Amino acid sequence: MLVTIDLHVHSTASDGTLPPAGVVRAAHAAGVTALALTDHDTTAGVAEAVAAARETGIQLVPGVELNTDRSRGEVHILGYLIPLEDGAFQELLARRRGARVRRGEAMVRRLQELGFDITFEHVRRIAGDGAITRPHVARALMETGGVPSVAEAFGRYLYTGGPAYVPHEPFTPVDAVQAVLAAGGVPVLAHPGRLEDEAIIPELVEAGLQGLECYYPEHSPADTRRFLALAAKYDLVVTGGTDFHGPGSTGDRAIGSVSAPSSAVDALYERQTRLARAGS
Ligand code: AMP
Ligand code: MN
Ligand code: MN
Ligand code: MN
Repeated sequence: MLVTIDLHVHSTASDGTLPPAGVVRAAHAAGVTALALTDHDTTAGVAEAVAAARETGIQLVPGVELNTDRSRGEVHILGYLIPLEDGAFQELLARRRGARVRRGEAMVRRLQELGFDITFEHVRRIAGDGAITRPHVARALMETGGVPSVAEAFGRYLYTGGPAYVPHEPFTPVDAVQAVLAAGGVPVLAHPGRLEDEAIIPELVEAGLQGLECYYPEHSPADTRRFLALAAKYDLVVTGGTDFHGPGSTGDRAIGSVSAPSSAVDALYERQTRLARAGS
């Protein structure tokens, strides 16, 4: 492959372990030519990533990942090319991050009830300025000696449905798709191989979904073939990314170890233009 395009990575703006500029440098070192920063519920890292990308010659695609759950398992929507100055979208993200704080506090309370000596201040310190996520709670639990590793924190307590798990405040996948569209961005379904129920795909297409993350480290070759066929069937942009979270993160995977097709970034911009025309 001539190009390596990674359209799904995280930084310290959410649950990644590298700052945005560090993520860009790691991508550059791995031969990535186009990169999308897709932090959970925040675009706070994008400006730093854009500046670092300019220095290294990488094409930086602004993005975000919106997690929804409850109804039929977790469904994650990636939003690309959203104008960062869109006030309504930034307000939505701020509300989602506020909900993440309350959820983080609730998970800490569960862990305290289970007998662990953990505080939300500790979680907050680990997250720094970033959006509060489960990996931050997991790390705080490890640092207080409650578990030997972040993986065990998830495996025993924080897995979805686990004894210390608290769901996100209600937000449906259709809400997420519509919010990205309303902000002038391009909504893409993340890691469809992790869906509990693939019947959600046509429902999201109906709501305006524009792309499918067919290439993903956990997808088997058969998964990838199935999702490529679905993307063709529903006229969705084929994307791909690693979901890199940096060294020392859970499920650590190499940045640039899967790639979106070389046409993916142009296809996202083309969709954005098409949507703007259709909406005007
Ligand atoms: P949250 O959105 O706060 O529920 O956090 C979700 C994040 O936790 C995901 O994006 C992953 O980075 C991480 N994560 C989810 N499940 C696991 C797991 N079983 N083991 C390790 N990390 C996980
Ligand atoms: Mn994550
Ligand atoms: Mn995800
Ligand atoms: Mn992700």
